[in-house]
Amino acid sequence: MSPCQACGACCAYDSSWPRFSLEAEEDLALIPAHLVALDKSGMRSVDNRCTALAGEIGKHVGCTIYGLRPDVCRACQPGDEECNTARAKYGFAPI
Ligand code: SF4
Ligand code: SF4
Repeated sequence: MSPCQACGACCAYDSSWPRFSLEAEEDLALIPAHLVALDKSGMRSVDNRCTALAGEIGKHVGCTIYGLRPDVCRACQPGDEECNTARAKYGFAPI
């Protein structure tokens, strides 16, 4: 099992994190509008938590738009610098 399924820290690190970059317009158009920021710069967050994240952080989480998630979400890998920075916010041990 991926450590991400029991984490979710990077999806709830900062509202500016799940931003859009070089995704194709037609791919972004597939993301439900209520999960996208009003200015369409990225995913919509509430209290720094991406609204596409389901579950309880640190217990069991999942991305409800996994197949459509932005490039930045695909780039973040367990154990990289961004990952462990996000994990530290929640007091989770680095991996
Ligand atoms: S912070 Fe790391 S382990 Fe946690 S969900 Fe993100 S990539 Fe996965
Ligand atoms: S789109 Fe999915 S992977 Fe990206 S921050 Fe939101 S919940 Fe996490």
